[in-house]
Amino acid sequence: MKPFTYVRARTLPHAVDLFADRDDAHFVAGGTNVTDLLKLGVLAASHLIDVTDALPREIETLPDGTTRIGAGVSNAVLAGHRAIRGRYPALAAALLAGASGQIRNAATVGGNLLQRTRCTYFQDVTRPCNKREPGTGCPALAGAHRDLSVIGGSGTCIATHPGDMAVALAMYDAEVEVLHTDGRTTRLPVGELHRLPGDRPDRDTVLAPGEIVTAVHLPDPGPHRSAYRKVRDRQSYAFALVSVAAAVTAGPDGSTVRLAFGSVAPRPWRAGTAEERLRGHALTDELVRAALDAEFAAATPLPGNAFKVEMAKAVGLATVRDLLAGRGENTPDQAHDVPGPAEHRHTPSAPAEGPEGAAG
Ligand SMILES: Cc1cc2nc3c(=O)[nH]c(=O)nc-3n(C[C@H](O)[C@H](O)[C@H](O)COP(=O)(O)OP(=O)(O)OC[C@H]3O[C@@H](n4cnc5c(N)ncnc54)[C@H](O)[C@@H]3O)c2cc1C
Ligand code: SF4
Repeated sequence: MKPFTYVRARTLPHAVDLFADRDDAHFVAGGTNVTDLLKLGVLAASHLIDVTDALPREIETLPDGTTRIGAGVSNAVLAGHRAIRGRYPALAAALLAGASGQIRNAATVGGNLLQRTRCTYFQDVTRPCNKREPGTGCPALAGAHRDLSVIGGSGTCIATHPGDMAVALAMYDAEVEVLHTDGRTTRLPVGELHRLPGDRPDRDTVLAPGEIVTAVHLPDPGPHRSAYRKVRDRQSYAFALVSVAAAVTAGPDGSTVRLAFGSVAPRPWRAGTAEERLRGHALTDELVRAALDAEFAAATPLPGNAFKVEMAKAVGLATVRDLLAGRGENTPDQAHDVPGPAEHRHTPSAPAEGPEGAAG
């Protein structure tokens, strides 16, 4: 047992002060990830700074139609919030697909975003791991990599960001609000929070030590139809093999599709190439399939996880197809606004492949 101090920060500036100049301090929010890693010996902390009293816990709809979610809001409260369920249904679905009811009660928005990878070697201190101990190697490359990245990884690390919530946030163009150690507050897109490993796999995110995620900002999504679908080894209480958050918005020039994939990359993978290829076109199965082929053309899977590339494309196609056919969650005022299959010259097809992304 390694001794450590435990202090509850009263305010955010207090949390920043407590962290200052401490090499091995860690923030604790819900504690569902950080305490596991401490018990496994993956993290060695001398100072634990509990930020749950200091973090904002409000969910506010602002006058400009955007939404601000305090980083201390629990995953359970966020999933059940009326404005989130009504205006960002794919986000509510993603949250409910994660972990278990007990964990969602404790887990916070900030902690969920910053949870560490579930790569088994990272969690096993008897094995080398470049993320845990830079320069020791990556046994996953020639070992157990079934769950790991197929795109965006590097020769030093192919870990994934394993969470669900961040995938939906990336699809909705959310931004993360960060309090810096000098007192400044800035915002950055959720899609830029997590780093690709490159030659620094030990750095999961762009945050510097002592920086605190204080809130998440969601733009006004407007009327849209959306879904979150998660494929996993069992229907509940399991991390995704592949997930997708998708939304279809009707516009004068046809529908706009937004897509982000989870558990295929070191960060939520916003499918910008596919989205661009679909913009302004009649959305047929063939076109969606070609757009997803283009998105994953840069994939570099390994023998044990090549199936994830085809799985991601299949789940992406099935989810877009369902949204165009009127299935998926509607925001309240747009049930009839998104053109259905006939208007898209969409070919009716078999039911969605893969398990439905229902609550886990
Ligand atoms: C059995 C099990 C199953 C799970 N299944 C899923 C799943 O299916 N999908 C899924 O998405 N997740 C899953 N999880 C992960 C779970 O969602 C995360 O553990 C949880 O969201 C982390 O939130 P937390 O508040 O408990 O974070 P903590 O454990 O308190 O912290 C996590 C990390 O974030 C840092 N941190 C926390 N808050 C802040 C902040 N505001 N600013 C800066 N740093 C901060 C901490 O220092 C730590 O490094 C599962 C977990 C378990 C144990
Ligand atoms: S994939 Fe990353 S986390 Fe997993 S063993 Fe390799 S370096 Fe470590």
